[in-house]
Amino acid sequence: MRYITSLILLLTSFCAASAQKTKDAGLQSITLESVEAPLEFLASDWTEGREVGTKGAYMAADYIASLFKLYGIRPLGDMAVKKMSRESRMAGGKPESYRSYFQNFDLLTGPRKSEISLSLINRTAYSAKELTLIKGADFELRGISSSMEIEAPVVFLGYGLQSEALKCDPFEKVNLEGKIVFLLSGFAGIDDQESENYRILKSDSTRSFRQIERDKVENARKAGALALVRYNPHRAFIAANPSNLPMHHDNEYYEGDEKKDDFYLKEIFLPNWNKKEELPVVEISRSMAESILNKSDDLLSSMLDPGYQMSSFKSVNLPETIFHLTAKKEQEVIRARNVLGYIEGENHDEVIVIGGHYDHVGKYNGFTFNGADDNVSGTVGMLSLARAFMQTGMKPAKTIVFAAWTGEEQGLWGSKYFVKNIPDDLNIILNINMDMISRTSLKDSTGNYLSLRYTKGYEEYEQIFRTINDVNKFNLDIDYRSEEQPRGGSDFTSFAMEGIPVISLFTGLHKDYHMPNDEIEFMNLEKMVAIIKLTYNGLNEILEKGLDKY
Ligand SMILES: [Zn+2]
Repeated sequence: MRYITSLILLLTSFCAASAQKTKDAGLQSITLESVEAPLEFLASDWTEGREVGTKGAYMAADYIASLFKLYGIRPLGDMAVKKMSRESRMAGGKPESYRSYFQNFDLLTGPRKSEISLSLINRTAYSAKELTLIKGADFELRGISSSMEIEAPVVFLGYGLQSEALKCDPFEKVNLEGKIVFLLSGFAGIDDQESENYRILKSDSTRSFRQIERDKVENARKAGALALVRYNPHRAFIAANPSNLPMHHDNEYYEGDEKKDDFYLKEIFLPNWNKKEELPVVEISRSMAESILNKSDDLLSSMLDPGYQMSSFKSVNLPETIFHLTAKKEQEVIRARNVLGYIEGENHDEVIVIGGHYDHVGKYNGFTFNGADDNVSGTVGMLSLARAFMQTGMKPAKTIVFAAWTGEEQGLWGSKYFVKNIPDDLNIILNINMDMISRTSLKDSTGNYLSLRYTKGYEEYEQIFRTINDVNKFNLDIDYRSEEQPRGGSDFTSFAMEGIPVISLFTGLHKDYHMPNDEIEFMNLEKMVAIIKLTYNGLNEILEKGLDKY
């Protein structure tokens, strides 16, 4: 009996030792050279800034897929068919299908600008007077992703402010279905810090003034309004920086009298994305506001008094005042692709997704934006982890999916598309996101700063990473932050919004962010290697320990 026990003991310790050995083999595969090699191609001019849907992005995606294949990562993209010869087709053969590394989807792209017209119709039983508004002078329009036409009567909701403390809820008891909501930005007294309204609303720590404005839009949308028209009578919210002289254009990397092409002039959407959640917001001038409230002139001036009691406001139906809004967007379809692979785990009921976006902003005005940090660094981080796990020669405890996202720069579209199309048998328990993991940010005094954000309730992650950073002397200066639903400008947001736990790794913004100078030369490769090793070890611990909420 004793003999058997010690044999078992010997065997388990042998297994533990060999598991450690194979894990070390993975860790040792992450070196400066192994990181540098794929980096040099992906961040080179040949991939032309990897803008979604362009040849450069396709080249980068093909390269990533070929590395997956080389490492032995299995494909998790769409099914594809092999080319067939004419002879075999004529002989009645069927094309052979196989799983590819690419998840293909369509995006709509076009100029941010759209052709917009807005008119104000005053309709009575006997006549209709139409006033065409001038864009830029009378109004501006925001928040639309596609062409539209709306014609509907107006309901004036005053400030549209919902506040328990002030006992006002103008959205209550008013039917906004199919109407256009007209309201004033801010609230009475926003410019007067001494006013009662200001004091009360300022002390509400759950809502900033900006949040108050966002809530108004959201309330109007939920109430079934077709659009929101607003007038801002206050000094607050007016952008502080005076714009450049109109004959002089300056976008940091270009200065001159000729208006240059710019990545920000373009927009990209998934077709029909959140149509239901989109509400056009029209900003109008004072004279337009006055002409809508024609008969209620006194109302407007009384409402501008800082002491105005907003709870006394009653909504005003203006059935004779109709807005007619049309917006035409020129859009074309582009084809985009995520690159997806996986290693099957002992337990394939639980899946961890490791991702980083490979796309960047492209090529403009003769500059190629190589986006070495943003986000070749994270893409190579993901690739290095894929390679390391294959180097162990062992099945990981759980299945790991490796993903290179596209379309991140214009709206996280690749990861959004992925999470909206997760197959039923893929139970994702964690997303680890790497986006910009190689630079020294502006606020980074030690040069070793790393932001690690994770979903609240998974504090064990923090413990794991703390210990690993100490034991291995990675010397990373890690800023841990847990949040209910971490959100930000990267792909982990797509997962967090679906309720999936996330870990986001990020070394911070720097002066070359979205600039042609985001180049390999300015990366801190030692730090990047340390971050990848930290993630590799951390992931191994997470795989071993399981992922119960603590
Ligand atoms: Zn990025």
